[in-house]
Amino acid sequence: MLSYQCSNSCRHCIYASSPRWKDWMLEQDLIRYLDQIRKYAPNQRGIHLSGGEPFLNFEATLRAVELCIESGVPLQYVETNGYWCETNDLTAYQFNLLRESGLPAILISVSPFHNEFIPFERTNRAINIAREIYGPYNVLIYTSYFYQQLQDYNPQTKIPFNRYLNTIGLEKAAHSFVEHYGLVPCGRAVSKLSHLFQKKPAETFFNNNCLAEFTSPEHIHIDPYGNYIASFCAGISLGDAHRLEKIFKGNPFQERPILEILATSGVEGLLKLAEDQFDFQVSSEGYIAKCHLCQDIRSHIVRVTDQFEELKPIEFYSYL
Ligand code: SF4
Repeated sequence: MLSYQCSNSCRHCIYASSPRWKDWMLEQDLIRYLDQIRKYAPNQRGIHLSGGEPFLNFEATLRAVELCIESGVPLQYVETNGYWCETNDLTAYQFNLLRESGLPAILISVSPFHNEFIPFERTNRAINIAREIYGPYNVLIYTSYFYQQLQDYNPQTKIPFNRYLNTIGLEKAAHSFVEHYGLVPCGRAVSKLSHLFQKKPAETFFNNNCLAEFTSPEHIHIDPYGNYIASFCAGISLGDAHRLEKIFKGNPFQERPILEILATSGVEGLLKLAEDQFDFQVSSEGYIAKCHLCQDIRSHIVRVTDQFEELKPIEFYSYL
């Protein structure tokens, strides 16, 4: 993640990105992470550059692509929401510069969450011009389902989310967010969208721990502050990515008690800690998933104490 800063404050955003964030990954830090990835994750399939919105700082994104290519770590794509694609010339110019620097592919986000902030005509322009420059197979549309669906709306205006829900219907929309977007119940998705889904009592989620998510090699992020974020556990730092060997070969849970609790006894253990030590009370409405409960507890804990360095970055909890 080059930055949490984004042009939008989308309701589904796992990382609570928005214009309020200001920091970007420093060049020397990226060089260090690439070096660490080469040494300690030599078999990974590739990395992607994301945000936030990478095109908010095009110079930094271009430089990041160059550094990835120089490092030899396979770079798969850069993500964008296309907010910046106001004209054909600008769109082609920036996509061409990245292509010439060695970027093989682009991922373009398309959804009603993004369409609330970005007129569809910009998204469409991004896709059409990217296809010309990168080739049709190197433009990943996330998701094609919503790309088709949003063709039915006025392309020149932003569509308020509630208007979208009214035209689609709550039940169908909620179903499509899970089926066609893979909505992850973390971050702003639970603070802004949980009313769309059925809630269950906290005890429903006591049956497993989070060791599999913490140790999954499938999808991890390194944020601009060096936090190693496993799976989609936004707001939880497994350690400092400047020293990946400590995370991969040591015990990342040492001196990070909340990680230890989640890895061994899951949200049940976290709830016990929060009730016993921080006067946390479960919501009588219930939760849509274990990560919803987890985030509710963590948000409470960071309001009471800053003693847990694994609950980072702290802004994540106030920008939800
Ligand atoms: S419950 Fe918390 S730690 Fe476990 S997978 Fe969900 S967000 Fe991550």
